[in-house]
Amino acid sequence: MKKINITTCPLCGGTQLERTLTCVDHYATGEMFHLCRCARCGFLFTQDFPAETEIGRYYETPDYISHTDTRRGAMNRIYHWVRTYMLGRKARLVCRTSYRKEGRLLDIGTGTGYFPQAMLKRGWQVEAVEKSAQARAFAKDHFGLEVKPETALADLPAGSYDVITMWHVMEHLEHLNETWDRLNELLTERGLLIVAVPNCSSFDARRYGAYWAAYDVPRHLWHFTPATMQQFGSKHGFILAERHPMPFDAFYVSILTEKHMRHSMTFLRGLLTGTLAWFSALVKKERSSSMIYVFRKKR
Ligand SMILES: [Zn+2]
Repeated sequence: MKKINITTCPLCGGTQLERTLTCVDHYATGEMFHLCRCARCGFLFTQDFPAETEIGRYYETPDYISHTDTRRGAMNRIYHWVRTYMLGRKARLVCRTSYRKEGRLLDIGTGTGYFPQAMLKRGWQVEAVEKSAQARAFAKDHFGLEVKPETALADLPAGSYDVITMWHVMEHLEHLNETWDRLNELLTERGLLIVAVPNCSSFDARRYGAYWAAYDVPRHLWHFTPATMQQFGSKHGFILAERHPMPFDAFYVSILTEKHMRHSMTFLRGLLTGTLAWFSALVKKERSSSMIYVFRKKR
């Protein structure tokens, strides 16, 4: 299998990369992957991850709900309830931070299409891109959305989107720096980039160490902190304007982590850690399990 070995830090170009954690793929294969940290800037990433052409099989599991949209089990029911709440919150965030009631939006890694659908209903013009053919078919069947494959990203017109959103997508993309550059090109001068990613310096990440479910190797290639996100934005012509915690993620991630650890009473234990993480993030939002970052283009 073709694996990608990182020899220079994608963020700062540093070459002193230290192995810090060993994580297991609990979703698909049970294989082990190492996480490395750049000694210079602290950026954390999955080492020797499968190349884009081969990573498909690591997504093939009935559990991958963001794509298959199953409603079986308590976990999935909670996930769907939270998603409905979060859709409203995301839509309001887009409108508030862009100072627009409507405009042109590009959603990258759109999954089954719920977010673009919510924005269309609010009067936005929406373009959506998604890698999974199965998820694109779902969006077509349920919402009549014409979601484009990710290859379309290269052909979209530059300087034409008021807002680009990436909800839990950036951590999956092999060509990280190229993607950041492309995002900058695609936005208008006053355009806004909104990115949500897990936070590996969160309360729950520190508590669970290598078991933390949001390391999600090898599907998550990059493990961001508020500091490294700001640095990536700055490197690619963006200024970090706002950060927002996503407190629900701590519950989801903690329950999933407890399940991976094969503890008894996974739901209650996860709920407890999720609650502690919630309070921790109230005191200091940089400790939130996941965060939403709002970037503006530098002028
Ligand atoms: Zn570095």
